[in-house]
Amino acid sequence: MSDKIVIFDTTLRDGEQSPGMSMNLEEKLLMAETLDFMGVDVIEAGFAMASNGDFESVQAVARQAKNAIVCSLARAKPADIERAAEALKPAKRGRIHTFISTSPIHLQYQFKLTEEEALAVIKETVAFARRFTDDVEWSAMDATRTSHEFLARAVETAISAGATTINIPDTVGFATPMDITEYFTNLRKNVQNFDKAIFSFHGHNDLGLGTANALAAIMAGARQIECTINGIGERAGNTALEEVVMALKVRKDRLRFDTGIKTEHITRASRLIQSITGQAVQVNKAIVGANAFAHESGIHQDGMLKHAGTYEIMTPESVGLTRSNLVMGKHSGRHAFREKLKELGFELGDNAFEDVFARFKDLADKKKDVYDDDLIALVEPRVGSGEKAISLVSMQVACGTEGAQKVTLALQVEGETKTIEMEGNGPVDALFKAIRALVPGSEDTQLKLYQVHAVTQGTDAQAEVTVRLDAAGTLINGNASDVDTLVASALAYINALAKVDTLRNKEVKTIC
Ligand SMILES: [Zn+2]
Repeated sequence: MSDKIVIFDTTLRDGEQSPGMSMNLEEKLLMAETLDFMGVDVIEAGFAMASNGDFESVQAVARQAKNAIVCSLARAKPADIERAAEALKPAKRGRIHTFISTSPIHLQYQFKLTEEEALAVIKETVAFARRFTDDVEWSAMDATRTSHEFLARAVETAISAGATTINIPDTVGFATPMDITEYFTNLRKNVQNFDKAIFSFHGHNDLGLGTANALAAIMAGARQIECTINGIGERAGNTALEEVVMALKVRKDRLRFDTGIKTEHITRASRLIQSITGQAVQVNKAIVGANAFAHESGIHQDGMLKHAGTYEIMTPESVGLTRSNLVMGKHSGRHAFREKLKELGFELGDNAFEDVFARFKDLADKKKDVYDDDLIALVEPRVGSGEKAISLVSMQVACGTEGAQKVTLALQVEGETKTIEMEGNGPVDALFKAIRALVPGSEDTQLKLYQVHAVTQGTDAQAEVTVRLDAAGTLINGNASDVDTLVASALAYINALAKVDTLRNKEVKTIC
């Protein structure tokens, strides 16, 4: 058995379908580019049958991916499988991931199938998927509430029908590491053709055991782990990519396995998904939380000053956390700027580069010290920029202890410049009211979240603002950053409104 663990990332499928995590096409492409660049082996780009939007995003990721295998989910139905195959056509390497439940409770109540009928469906649908690609993954949904005997029969059937990866999902987050060890040990013992497929584990974090279960699966024979950045996903989320990858790296003495992940890109991927979705990870989140590398206790700090190894099991640099190095200033030229972006993991096309470079020069004029995090914030607002039919022309805000809080705002909406004056309960209220008055259709949305955070330290830090809107049940995030908090707020609100139409209409969801 190989020592390589295949990292299968489902941030764009299982992650994206959880509340508040919706992404538009451009955001998915940016995330997929990051995953591909950091060495993810398989990117599950979506569920092609779910909606036209999902189909298009699977297709676009398939077209874009340079190294990763691109995968689409498909239920055990020919139409789903055909749709997945169609979306994956442009991929260098495409994978169809089809699934059906194997647990008695799901078979009886949800699928209304006997075990024998389920086996027939598995045989038929896996063989059908193989007509389109040599790379077919089959998942036993709710595997961890399935009997060992039936799970082994189902898996053997799927492999005989041509499945090349067999995934064992802990769909409801119920299993303990001991259960996982037993499941995989049983499969190794009782599945005759076990060595004809790669075995995979897909964990959920309902009991906080996602990572522990993934490691147990690896120790018992799994060679693929399904996971998401920051552990986003249904309910309590999925196994976190960064936790499994760093556990394997840091504890190589116990776990002699490799992944292809360039771990220095973990922090950037984590921040990107936070900035796209507006969902920050908790400060004490393993690997990527704000405090994950902060040493507060005096004894620990004293030890750290003498030798970092006293209290640090991995370096912040190993996950790409730079210590906010002062990097660039207003005299930095194009070449140095491009090199710096490359070092941070961004390779931009010429137009995008010129746009970011111009904004960098503006920022360097306003802000003396430009840090790595500032540069990352500058690059990331290009999320959603392609669909802006609304742009900010100018704004003036009056606020303070005396008189009314007032804003004078000019926006360009669908090519036409409109101006308005508006009062409100505080400058943000006045500003948002003014924007709503100028943008048609905004009355159909409801503000759910307004969040501001400082990108770096200091009073001249850029403010990164997230605005979340509810548009007829679909949650939409807008993000922007600027040294002026109110300008960033206006841009984030505009960014969200510009996305409203493209993000509606999600029809089918799964819980694999
Ligand atoms: Zn799942």
